[in-house]
Amino acid sequence: MASYYNNETILYLNGEFVKAAEAKMDYYSQSFHYGYSVFEGIRSYRTVNGETKIFKAKEHYDRLQRSAELVNLPYHWTTEELTEVTYEVLKRNDLQDAYIRPVVFAPANMSFVQNEKSFLVIEVWAMQPFLGDKLLRIMTSSFERPNPKAFKIEAKAAGHYVNSLLASHEAKAKGYDEALLLDMNGNAAEAPGANLFYEKDGKLFTPAKGNILPGITRATVFEICEELGIEVQEKFFTVDELKQADAAFYCGTAAEVIGFDSLDDYKFPLKWEESVSRKIQQAYKNLVVEKAIEPQIQEDAKKHEVVA
Ligand code: PMP
Repeated sequence: MASYYNNETILYLNGEFVKAAEAKMDYYSQSFHYGYSVFEGIRSYRTVNGETKIFKAKEHYDRLQRSAELVNLPYHWTTEELTEVTYEVLKRNDLQDAYIRPVVFAPANMSFVQNEKSFLVIEVWAMQPFLGDKLLRIMTSSFERPNPKAFKIEAKAAGHYVNSLLASHEAKAKGYDEALLLDMNGNAAEAPGANLFYEKDGKLFTPAKGNILPGITRATVFEICEELGIEVQEKFFTVDELKQADAAFYCGTAAEVIGFDSLDDYKFPLKWEESVSRKIQQAYKNLVVEKAIEPQIQEDAKKHEVVA
């Protein structure tokens, strides 16, 4: 198992910076017993000019708030304050290329009664960007994604991830790199922790919203497509349709953009190097380490747009 912290590591817990090795949590927490917490997975990168940049910090902290609200966890933080605090946690741990994991969790409560307060922890650990360009061997999972009528599936809630673990364990036990889960209607949905795209004749397709966690990276892929003039369409599609694609990839904050070698016994025919998907991967790789734009410059750019 990876080592996430040592004796020097600092985390942020309920308004204080404390040593990870000394931080305490209540074993009677409703979160621990029922998987009842919400969290985010965020990345920071060392940019081309050497600064630390939290990629899409606003989008992630806004989603954390939405997740908490969707599952009735009290939320009393702002995106601005948490972004600032996260930069401070990174600084105190001397990290630039890192993974950031904020969790909002419940107090001691064995009942199903709603809580009047909740707690927040922000943990960070080192993570290198784009470790290799390997292609994934994917297996269609025997597990479906959680049913939107059973869960608030657009919330990044801890309990949902038992489904992710089961699917991933199954795929790995059978010798694959990762699983592809279907939705309750039998359409292709997503990975245990990433969204799906496929490429056909230079055009991209991705499962429509409704039965997936619509990721921030997925939205970034849309932005990249717009910029590069690549057509992209949201729709529901089956695994049979996916098995006629030229190429496919998963995308997520942790996975970034990672191509498929195969799905079950279907090998994607287009060489990854020659795919439009690869162009997206390259563009994403460049985007995350691009110089951070100062808010003032963004404002000026907006003004310029109006004039132009
Ligand atoms: N789907 C699931 C189930 C996930 O856990 C994640 C990771 N948060 C994603 C998709 C991708 O989301 P994002 O791009 O926001 O990381």
